[in-house]
Amino acid sequence: MSDVQAAPGVDKNDVDKLDADKAPVGKNPVGKKPAGKKPGEARHESIYRAVSDAIIEQRLKPGARLREDALAEVFGISRTGIRKILQRLALEQLVTLTPRRGASVTRPTADEAKDVFDARQLVECGLMPDVARRMTSKEAAALRDMARQEREALRSGERSTAIKLSADFHIQLARLSGNATLAAFVEQLCSRSSLIMAVYGHRGHLGCESHDHDNLIGFLEQGDAERAEAFMGRHLKAIEASLSIVEKDDSTPDLHQIFGA
Ligand SMILES: [Zn+2]
Repeated sequence: MSDVQAAPGVDKNDVDKLDADKAPVGKNPVGKKPAGKKPGEARHESIYRAVSDAIIEQRLKPGARLREDALAEVFGISRTGIRKILQRLALEQLVTLTPRRGASVTRPTADEAKDVFDARQLVECGLMPDVARRMTSKEAAALRDMARQEREALRSGERSTAIKLSADFHIQLARLSGNATLAAFVEQLCSRSSLIMAVYGHRGHLGCESHDHDNLIGFLEQGDAERAEAFMGRHLKAIEASLSIVEKDDSTPDLHQIFGA
């Protein structure tokens, strides 16, 4: 018997919405390792990715409870293993851990959304000179292919796939800078932005204009660091401007204020 009890009043259906069949374990367009990992670590990595994809793609909605016992059953691992994954997702702020209530999908606030985009401005624009200097024609071709897939996803109305692909594009771009520490930070910021876009974005809008991505690749191929940096700045501002970052207030409305009484 585990030492952790299911929180009372938890809706077990929250976790049942996570359909393991629809979250292909280990699917990763960016082509991240787990090369050379032990089987347990590879399993941890693939479950972590499946849950994180489900959050970003909004198959798990902000606020949904994530019960350890139900997740352990779905993925066929121990609750201790699930707890480690939830703690990792909490560090990345995709999941919120509340004492006694347990884990739930984070509901990003307006302030957090602004901070995330400010951080992206600083870091991603700052990386452009290194990317412009180092990028090979083979890497440019791979990026163009990612931009094309993103456009196709958008055209066929696969909004969450398009959000995911555009995050992958930004992550891959950051990796080309050669600074692994900042690339890991960009990866975390992109995960959080994807959740923010999913929560605050409009149906008809995707965060990234993928034609922008093609233009950006062009500047980088020409080695034009200055234009690439300025373009990235405008691109990120445009994504932020396309969102309606207004927190949904589900507290009691102020009737005096609303009706002017
Ligand atoms: Zn973009």
